[in-house]
Amino acid sequence: KADAAMYHAKASGRNNYQFFAERMNVAAARRFELETSLRGALEREEFTLFYQPIVATRDGKVEGMEVLLRWRRPDHGLVAPDDFIPMLEENGLIVPVGEWVIRAACEQAVAWRRAGLAPVPLAVNLSARQFMHRGLVPAIRRTLEDTGIEAAMLEFEITETALMQHGRQTLETLEQISAMGIRLSIDDFGTGYSSLAYLKRFPVHKIKIDRAFVRDLETSGEDRAIVAAIMALAGSLQLSVVAEGVETGAQLALLREHGCDLAQGYLFARPADAAEMPPLLRTYPSRE
Ligand code: C2E
Ligand code: MG
Ligand code: MG
Ligand code: MG
Repeated sequence: KADAAMYHAKASGRNNYQFFAERMNVAAARRFELETSLRGALEREEFTLFYQPIVATRDGKVEGMEVLLRWRRPDHGLVAPDDFIPMLEENGLIVPVGEWVIRAACEQAVAWRRAGLAPVPLAVNLSARQFMHRGLVPAIRRTLEDTGIEAAMLEFEITETALMQHGRQTLETLEQISAMGIRLSIDDFGTGYSSLAYLKRFPVHKIKIDRAFVRDLETSGEDRAIVAAIMALAGSLQLSVVAEGVETGAQLALLREHGCDLAQGYLFARPADAAEMPPLLRTYPSRE
């Protein structure tokens, strides 16, 4: 479409300004359309959850699952979160959608348990705005009560950038969540700009090494040095470490060598619908 507009602009000899104005209108119209359909998506029950196993690097046992939001947008298929979460953040809809994610994940955990599957903790992503919202802690509490899921079966993932946005309230919220017995992971670790002091200040339990450091592990000495440094830091602060985006056996071998106990990535399983999880849970039961 943009190419057609370009061709058209050139062919008709119109100036650059008109060309850019046209492109802007197309972008604005697309945005408006996206926002309109996004606003009704929750009510129309178009959101769905995918799950991706987090496994022990030693033996491949499933130790947990990350919960990943998807949008089944009519006429567009399955939409990935990077294409709509920024907009949910902007318009505040991330708060109700985020609450839905927590509830739906807990309900899924109940369903798996009823089906006799070994329970593993589910890790739910929290965005900055959701995290700052006053209603978050009461909503979590209500969800745990309503579903009967133990707090130990729920984890939250939050990026360091999101954590840094609000000083005092962040600490309070984290302490409340931690006091409930829910563990917290730092997502995309190493990619934000922040001091490491927060690891000491906040009740953090786990670090997720961003896949940017995992991707070139075989060829990059720098990335191996970064991973080694993260492992040393985590070791002395008694945090556990998950490597994200593990796609090859060679990456896995290097991570094991560096003492990384947990991993997640296409090598083990791609994120998939809940219906595809039971065989994985049965194949590698995490607890007897
Ligand atoms: P994230 O929390 O860092 O999640 C990991 C992302 O890496 C997921 O992308 C996952 O599909 C992808 N991934 C996993 N293994 C591999 C691999 O081996 N190779 C590669 N190339 N990618 C891999 P996804 O599902 O598209 O989610 C993107 C981001 O959207 C997430 O990054 C998270 O920040 C956000 N997100 C997802 N669900 C939610 C949610 O319910 N709420 C909020 N606030 N954010 C969410
Ligand atoms: Mg995550
Ligand atoms: Mg991540
Ligand atoms: Mg990410």
